[in-house]
Amino acid sequence: MAHKVIIVGSGPAGYTAAVYAGRADLKPLVFAGPEPGGQLMITTDVENYPGFPEGVMGPEMMELFKNQAVRFGADVRNEVVTKVDLSQRPFKVYVGDEVFEGETVIVATGASAKWIGIESEVTFGGYGVSACATCDGFFFRGKTVAVVGGGDTAMEEANYLTRHADKVYLVHRRDEFRASQIMQKRVIDNPKIELLTSQTVDEILGDTDPMPKVTGIRLKSTKDDSMKEVPLDGVFVAIGHKPNSDLFKGVLDANDVGYLKINPGSTETNIPGVFACGDVADDKYRQAVTAAGTGCMAAIDAERFLEAHES
Ligand code: NAP
Repeated sequence: MAHKVIIVGSGPAGYTAAVYAGRADLKPLVFAGPEPGGQLMITTDVENYPGFPEGVMGPEMMELFKNQAVRFGADVRNEVVTKVDLSQRPFKVYVGDEVFEGETVIVATGASAKWIGIESEVTFGGYGVSACATCDGFFFRGKTVAVVGGGDTAMEEANYLTRHADKVYLVHRRDEFRASQIMQKRVIDNPKIELLTSQTVDEILGDTDPMPKVTGIRLKSTKDDSMKEVPLDGVFVAIGHKPNSDLFKGVLDANDVGYLKINPGSTETNIPGVFACGDVADDKYRQAVTAAGTGCMAAIDAERFLEAHES
């Protein structure tokens, strides 16, 4: 028999959808995906999620989200959806050769920060290397950090970080920025920001004993390959995000970089009965709390859809 609701993804959006669907007695089936818990699993302290006045570690928070979903009857499986067939209801969701049917599907597959692709970035991830200034900027009060990237996100993050850090380097591989003029101007006019253009990050430097700690970066000039080291305390990678929407390519409407399109004020996609929530459908806010909010909306939308289409 078809499941009432299949949820693909297990970040704040997926688990909140599962809590609401569970409490509506819809017994949601949740596929946790390749990174169970989502992006918060690679964060340390989360201090901006309401209800945790002392902050909470990202992985611990996601465990709480999961436990809450399971408490209300969600069947959470640590499996990766490999294919979907949304051509008719019940929809088909594949995990390898195994097929699951859902009367509704909630897509909560999130987004992934793009990373530079150097090993030291992984070593210091969550310990001085971050892809979210709003989440982690606070920890760099009075310190020196670098933001890597030349788009609007990098400009925004660099400006934001000057609220906390004493000095912010903006490292960009070209000497022209992709960012809008107004955002560039704010950065150029900010006395706390120093531009390091035509440079790539060759290595993030630091200690690993007793805890990983960033102490600097080694930059490589894109003009003459010369190297230089810059002492600092943190590195924010802001070279873009990628929505995890490949499974739905050509099936669900998306913008030109793959963020799923939803009807304004709802989580409805172009296929009735398929809903999208969280970062996969949001290139603007990308916060745990907004993802959780839209996860709630998706479950309510699915519940109402099922009521209206009861056979
Ligand atoms: P983006 O516009 O794609 O910019 C990515 C930047 O990272 C580019 O400068 C790129 O360099 C650089 N980059 C990419 N891969 C790199 C690598 N491997 N190593 C070093 N540098 C690398 O991404 P975004 O800044 O996240 O913006 C995404 C979208 O959201 C844009 O449409 C943007 O306008 C929008 N946005 C708007 C606002 C706002 O209006 N408030 C705020 C944030 C984002 P190159 O330039 O050399 O390619």
